[in-house]
Amino acid sequence: MATVTTTYTCEVCSADSSVRVGGVSVPDVPVSKKNHVVFMSPANAKREVEAGLANPIGVKSKGVEELAQEALLYAACPKCAARNPRGVAAQKRKVLHSRLSGALLLAICVPGAWYFPTFGLATPILALFFTLLGVYARKALGVPLERAQIFIGIAGPLAFAAFARAYPGHAWLVPFALLGPELIRPQAGRDFEWAAAAKRIAASRPQAPTD
Ligand SMILES: [Zn+2]
Repeated sequence: MATVTTTYTCEVCSADSSVRVGGVSVPDVPVSKKNHVVFMSPANAKREVEAGLANPIGVKSKGVEELAQEALLYAACPKCAARNPRGVAAQKRKVLHSRLSGALLLAICVPGAWYFPTFGLATPILALFFTLLGVYARKALGVPLERAQIFIGIAGPLAFAAFARAYPGHAWLVPFALLGPELIRPQAGRDFEWAAAAKRIAASRPQAPTD
């Protein structure tokens, strides 16, 4: 893991800011060694290839500078605090994609649950799984958990699952009822890319006092 000092160019206020990006690690690159593919750090790979111990595999490794610039996708400008417009657009695409695929899945489950009530039980269990996945992702990124949201994400599906079990004849109502929240789900819960980036990116001050 390295901390890289690079320049963030704000598309909103046009200011160039010097920023430090922490947690930059260059992924290992594959090389061919005695007919085996081995992954090693780019520096080791270079050394082994030059010594004739391994053959390069045509994969371009990314430099720390390039990786640091990629991390700036979800950066906020140190000067004007505006979020990187490219990150905002990327996040919108992600949200739209997840919403449409979720809604499509639920739309398939409505007639499914009409014929096979098990589908009505499967949808809240799937929703519960996504809640747990979200908790795991936040923990992995070191982003604080939102208790209310987790509570709704767990209690909601459990209530729907109980309904589907109690009234199998009406189980199709479960995916149907989940369709609405899926389409209007607020974006607030999806801020973890920004929160995770904020933890890694700091404005660097040339004359910063030592602490
Ligand atoms: Zn700016």
